[in-house]
Amino acid sequence: MPDEEFLLLGEALWLEFVNTAESPPVGRDSLSDPGEYLRWTKAVRIEPPRDASAFNDALTLRTRLLALARALDTGRNPPPSAIEAINRLLVGMEGREQLVRVGGNWQLRIQPVRPPSALEAVAQSAAQTLANPIAVIRRCANPGCGLYFSDESPNQSRRWCSRSRCGDTGRIERRRNTPRPTPMITEG
Ligand SMILES: [Zn+2]
Repeated sequence: MPDEEFLLLGEALWLEFVNTAESPPVGRDSLSDPGEYLRWTKAVRIEPPRDASAFNDALTLRTRLLALARALDTGRNPPPSAIEAINRLLVGMEGREQLVRVGGNWQLRIQPVRPPSALEAVAQSAAQTLANPIAVIRRCANPGCGLYFSDESPNQSRRWCSRSRCGDTGRIERRRNTPRPTPMITEG
């Protein structure tokens, strides 16, 4: 199954996950069964779910994270249920502290002793966003889209999920209203 099955923006993993709930056109769920969920984990290159029951856990977490994205987009505090869901997954992750050289500086990092499960990876991604003071979560300004993204532009002026997908919407609308030349029909 090709990756194009899912609309991926190259955003933080948890936002890609949230965006499966309301894919354009607004409201389409692109994870509607365990098979789709399995293919999505492959598309974003995280651990596949162990069994079909993991699908229900995934949907529960997605509901919490969708509420989190909505809250952040509208300037509200993160819902406690989202923070609890994230922390519950983080507590199960095992790792060891290690010194790592990052950009010329030594940093203390937790190195996992096993690959994180799909939902642990998603929770970790959400935790990284929440812990990042400059990350601003926004919803695409195109009313027909509604995808969430993290605005890390210098003056936080990003409005679209992607310029090519939605940023040119106004121009496309204008072009659509311009009368087209009548096509020449040749017979023979
Ligand atoms: Zn968009």
